[in-house]
Amino acid sequence: MTCAIAGGGPAGAMLALLLARTGVEVTLLEKHADFLRDFRGDTIHPSTLRVLDEIGLAGEFLKLPHRKAYEISLVSDTGPMRLASLRELPGPYNYIAFVPQWDFLNLITAEAATYPNFHLKMRAEAYDLIREDGAVRGLRYRDDTGEHELRADLTVAADGRGSVLRERAGLVPEELGAPMDVLWFRMPREDTDPDETFLRVSSGHMMVAINRESYWQLAYVIPKGGFDRLASQGIEALREPVARMLPFLEGRIGQVRSYDDVSMLTVALNRLRRWHRPGFLCIGDAAHAMSPVFGVGINLAVQDAVATANLLAGSLRSGALITDSTLHLLQKRRMPPTRVTQAAQRLVQDRLIRPALKRQFKPPRVRPDLARIPLLNRVTRRFIGLGVRPEHVTVGPVAGRPSHNVDNGVGREDPVEYPRMS
Ligand SMILES: Cc1cc2nc3c(=O)[nH]c(=O)nc-3n(C[C@H](O)[C@H](O)[C@H](O)COP(=O)(O)OP(=O)(O)OC[C@H]3O[C@@H](n4cnc5c(N)ncnc54)[C@H](O)[C@@H]3O)c2cc1C
Repeated sequence: MTCAIAGGGPAGAMLALLLARTGVEVTLLEKHADFLRDFRGDTIHPSTLRVLDEIGLAGEFLKLPHRKAYEISLVSDTGPMRLASLRELPGPYNYIAFVPQWDFLNLITAEAATYPNFHLKMRAEAYDLIREDGAVRGLRYRDDTGEHELRADLTVAADGRGSVLRERAGLVPEELGAPMDVLWFRMPREDTDPDETFLRVSSGHMMVAINRESYWQLAYVIPKGGFDRLASQGIEALREPVARMLPFLEGRIGQVRSYDDVSMLTVALNRLRRWHRPGFLCIGDAAHAMSPVFGVGINLAVQDAVATANLLAGSLRSGALITDSTLHLLQKRRMPPTRVTQAAQRLVQDRLIRPALKRQFKPPRVRPDLARIPLLNRVTRRFIGLGVRPEHVTVGPVAGRPSHNVDNGVGREDPVEYPRMS
């Protein structure tokens, strides 16, 4: 049986790899020409590192240029404050790896391409579903050569927050609300700059500074829909608060010449009530758009992919019928972690981001080290590092193909509990 996946983000690329290694004929379509885009997160959390370990890719992944963050800190006008430490998670993956997402996606798709049953179509934009006898039987896409049909036994929408296939399936997400959008831009980095990646909060302003060695990737948070107002005040309205919050950038801030150097990223927080139709499934942001809070959207997308492969690879390989109720098992499994994670994101949006953007944030005079409160740190590090229901890869590579699996004992603490499938 065959699988067509629209969207080469973390969800689609990981699902394609996991299915390819079990021998399923899988085609991945990505509408862009490459993965070199700046507007996706950079954080690979311990849960995803464990998945990479389980499929033997952790070693290759860690050869990519990356930075490790063992702690999560907030820097306010009164100084830094530790929010959580991941060091006490069971090793070896007790840190967040910051890796440009294009490197991660190139690695995943390059590994998938070692399987002859994996097919990657770049610059291929899915625009519609093929429907027959009340079920989805594939998708329609366009590329440089025209419009095409790709028939498949299972069609997966992993095409992100603005999913076209979701819309074509008549599935509409329930909006949960996000009070902010993000301005995304770069500044050169110098050796004397701080080393860390950090969250900076000041009254009326908030930003994240990601150290990418030769440059800073900066994410400046603005009130939802506030871009036109800010832009009408000129580029100084952006430069001034950034230079004030990050004084080491002051002499360089003029290098942001205009808003042409800045990308505006819309933040959404929503989820589908129903993730599937007969022959069709949504995963990742297409099923539940994640806010950047906690930087866990990539990891949730990867966990969806792992759960999908665990659930469906056997049927796809053997030709067993994948019923709508089978697809519902996936939704049942992944909905609880989605709900809990989004509830926590909303809490941070409402208690920290909204007040900060309304100038209601008062920098704490006493800065407690939250990472030293054992119970709190235990909950926080597990939530951020491993997520609510970490998934483990239970489907192996095709026979005859050496498994790179290295069982080093990590990632086995939450046994996979699936109801039996038809
Ligand atoms: C400003 C911002 C910052 C964020 N930062 C982080 C972070 O640091 N860490 C983190 O974990 N999460 C972060 N997130 C959330 C994270 O980006 C998403 O949750 C995650 O990327 C979801 O992965 P996905 O594969 O489901 O979708 P996406 O990453 O959106 O991938 C979808 C893919 O589908 C392709 N596509 C779209 N339409 C079509 C089509 N019709 N046909 C073919 N291909 C198509 C797109 O080009 C894209 O490659 C952030 C989100 C925002 C808005």
